Amino acid sequence: MTIATNILRVRETIAEACDRAGRDPSAVTLIAVSKTHPPETVLEAVAAGVQHFGENRVEEAGTKIPAVNGLTPRPLVWHMIGHIQSRKAKDVLPLFQYVQSVDSVKLAGKLSGLAVTQGCTLDVLLEVNVSGEEAKYGLVASGWQTDVDTRRRLWADMEAILALPGLNVRGLMTMAPIVDDMEQARPVFASLAALRNALAEAFHRPLPDLSMGMTDDYPVAVEEGATMVRVGRAIFGERQS
Ligand SMILES: *Cc1c(COP(=O)(O)O)cnc(C)c1O
Repeated sequence: MTIATNILRVRETIAEACDRAGRDPSAVTLIAVSKTHPPETVLEAVAAGVQHFGENRVEEAGTKIPAVNGLTPRPLVWHMIGHIQSRKAKDVLPLFQYVQSVDSVKLAGKLSGLAVTQGCTLDVLLEVNVSGEEAKYGLVASGWQTDVDTRRRLWADMEAILALPGLNVRGLMTMAPIVDDMEQARPVFASLAALRNALAEAFHRPLPDLSMGMTDDYPVAVEEGATMVRVGRAIFGERQS
C-alpha cells in the first residue's frame, strides 16, 4: 500500500462515517500524524493532498517541521498533539500553528504569555481526560456529568484559560482508551461532544472543534461529531520507533 492509497482509503472511510451520521465530510479535517516518520515520508502525504500534520514531540518537530516546510511550497498546518513540558513551551510557538494538547492552566498561561510577547494569538484545544485512565494527560473530566467537584474544577480551569489574552480556545481534544472494538470508545467520544456543548453554552463561546479519533477508532469518532481526526498508522504504517 502506498501512502497516497492509504490516504484515499481513510478519506473514504471518513466520508462513509459522515454519511451514516448525516454530516458533511468537509466538516472533518484529516490530520496526518507523522511522528517518528522522516520528512520524505511526510512529503508523500503532502503530495497526496494532506495539509494538516500532527507531531507529539517538540524536539523531533524542531528539525522535521522546518525541513518539510523547506521542501514544499504548500502552506502546511502543524498541530502539536503531545504533552508539552513547561521548559519546552517556548519552542512550540515558532513551529506549530495549533496546539491541541493544552492540559493545564499553567501551560495555558505560559503559551499565552509567549504569544502575547510575539504579538500573536495561538489556536488551541484543551486536552481533557474523559475516560478516567490514569496514564493519560488532560484536564480531569471523567464523570463530569454527575460529579459536582470535577465539574466545578473543570469549569474554573476553563474560565481561567478563556481569560488568557494570547490564546484562541477552539474546542476540546481527547484520546480514547485502547479497546478491542471501536464501539467501546463511543461513550468517550459522546461524552467529549456533550462536554463541549455544555462548556460552549456556559461560557457563550462557539468552541467549534472536537479533535477525537485515531487509527483504531476514527469512524466512530466522526459519527459522534469529530471535526478533526488524528490518524497515524492507517496512513504511514507502523511507526519507526
Ligand atoms: C500517535 C497519536 C495519534 C495517532 O495514532 P494512530 O493510532 O497511529 O492513528 C493520535 N493522537 C495522538 C495524541 C497521538 O499521540
